[in-house]
Amino acid sequence: MALTRTTEPITADDAAIRAALADAFLPALLPALAQATGDFTILRAELRPPGIAPGVPQGGMSPQQQEAAREIAFEALKQLRIEGETRTPAPLEDAIKRITAWMTGSQASDDYLPLLLEELGPEGEDPRAPQWRKDPNVPFTVAIIGAGMSGILAGIRLKQAGVPFVILEKNHDVGGTWLENTYPGARVDVSNAFYSYSFAQKTDWPKHYSTQDVLLDYFRDVAGEYGIREHVRFNTEVLEAAFDEASGSWRLQVRGANGAEETVEVQGVISAVGQLNRPKMPEIKGMETFRGPSFHSARWDHSVDLKGKRVVVIGTGASAAQFIPSIAPEVADLTVFQRTPPWLVPVPQYHDEVPGGLQWLFRHVPHYVHWYRFWLFWNTTDGMLAAATVDESWEPKTLAVSEANDQLRMLLTGYMQMQFGDRPDLLEKVLPKYPPAAKRLVLDNGIWAATLKRDNVRLVTDGIREVTAAGVVAADGTEYPADVIIYGTGFQASKFLTPMRVKGRGGADLHAQWNGDARAYMGITVPNFPNLFLLYGPNTNIVVNGSIIYFSECEVQYVLGCIKLLLDEGKRALDCKPEVHDAYNERIDRANLLRVWGVSDVNSWYKNDKGRVAQNWPFNLIEYWKQTKEPDPADYVLL
Ligand code: NAP
Repeated sequence: MALTRTTEPITADDAAIRAALADAFLPALLPALAQATGDFTILRAELRPPGIAPGVPQGGMSPQQQEAAREIAFEALKQLRIEGETRTPAPLEDAIKRITAWMTGSQASDDYLPLLLEELGPEGEDPRAPQWRKDPNVPFTVAIIGAGMSGILAGIRLKQAGVPFVILEKNHDVGGTWLENTYPGARVDVSNAFYSYSFAQKTDWPKHYSTQDVLLDYFRDVAGEYGIREHVRFNTEVLEAAFDEASGSWRLQVRGANGAEETVEVQGVISAVGQLNRPKMPEIKGMETFRGPSFHSARWDHSVDLKGKRVVVIGTGASAAQFIPSIAPEVADLTVFQRTPPWLVPVPQYHDEVPGGLQWLFRHVPHYVHWYRFWLFWNTTDGMLAAATVDESWEPKTLAVSEANDQLRMLLTGYMQMQFGDRPDLLEKVLPKYPPAAKRLVLDNGIWAATLKRDNVRLVTDGIREVTAAGVVAADGTEYPADVIIYGTGFQASKFLTPMRVKGRGGADLHAQWNGDARAYMGITVPNFPNLFLLYGPNTNIVVNGSIIYFSECEVQYVLGCIKLLLDEGKRALDCKPEVHDAYNERIDRANLLRVWGVSDVNSWYKNDKGRVAQNWPFNLIEYWKQTKEPDPADYVLL
């Protein structure tokens, strides 16, 4: 993997530099060059990108701004070529303050300084690695459940701290969701500079938004490079985890590759099983009577050849929006059942390769990747939060919840009108009638409209009455014949940690305690379940269109802090105080009711069956970073 921490010296001639600049992403390049040269006159006020709509090319800079920015960048790159290693970069703190002010129009406060100091630390260092080592004489081992993105990360940090661990993985390989979701067109919808570990940045992502195979390779590479694979027991499913109060240990009942069950005893358990892991099949009358193949998008049956077939797809969420355009050209006939249309966000480069010049700049300009990462962070998450925030005096809240949310709605509506302008019949069906960001936004480069307009594709919005042996019958009685049915119907997101049985102190059963409404403190710890740590637990999902890796890095930092606390105090286990947990959850619930996903009554997997937003974090991302920096011992009972 090409890590950005070691920037290469510039030896290219002027023509090659100019050629690379043609591919530059300027809103992040000027900041990186200002930092590298120490010359902040580069950050001219008149060149500040207007920002905020996430996918707008060059952050909305005008052609004149872009031309001026390229000239300035050219001079700065020549300066870097001459000065090489002797250059004097700006003092880091000062650079971060000036750059964030320029990039965000002074909206990002000094709160972001410590986060960015971590991200932009000296080349070759990993400032988030634990700065402590467990005493090898103190017995404390950990079982991580799951070797996906979060499990690999937890393994890396435990290894760095010298804490012995085993990873129990039900699949045959690492990668989690990126191993399981092999549907055609599967790719990440968060740009890779952000959807990647902070300590394993790459300068050579082939595409801005990687396809599943590339991401799976990334997670395999990281697991290999950090020596995590040898800690994984593959094909091993955890059936039950039970805390033994007498010994302060967890006993995990596991079923291995040969089907034999055994008990694994550890002192700590980290659940890294993900939220979007167990497919959700709909309950539609007659589903079992269908005589052709049918499968869920996350369990794609590659043995079924779709060429020339009549296919019915149920669902138009993020998964379906990726596989429908991929299969449409090969099938004979495609009927798409849409219950709720997604809002489309224009991202012209969604499927594009990262151009060679941009890759070259990533390799040669110190911290360019990090400032690009911050640009994405700001423009897809914290900087977008205002557009997802409820103005209580705004009425009615059906289509928008505030002026900023309404502006976003108008922007996205304009895009969809442009895409479907020639097909008013389709526009009427695809234009959402709920506020944007109440559900997951779907990125688009024009492919959704192009697909739905195909002669062999029809969009049905009448609802489904039943499935028959021969196809799917809509609510109006029309039968759509099918050779294959594909369910793009999402995941059992709110059924955290199922189907495992988890038993805590005093015989507490985790799922009985949750009673269909999973909650945790910081999304990580649950009263009565000492030393059980959840990654991607309740209320730790996205902020608008964020990266789950960001959350996982915060969570793992916190978990390592909890383990350190235990070891420092010479205690066996820590249990979250119920009153701390409850007060925290009240704050979360109150805040989620001030977000668009909390007030809108549109269907979404952000809410559980009780109607509570059990998935989403309601504040900005920097707040989660601050709160999970280290545990407060007062929040826990040490056993
Ligand atoms: P999803 O967003 O929950 O979408 C499920 C779809 O199925 C929705 O359109 C839903 O309609 C429909 N549906 C469910 N039950 C139905 C029924 N009984 N009848 C008719 N329609 C039904 O699931 P997903 O698309 O798999 O995505 C889940 C999440 O995974 C995403 O939001 C994203 O966070 C993640 N994901 C990410 C990527 C990526 O990074 N590229 C790709 C895929 C998924 P309603 O909307 O009316 O409920």
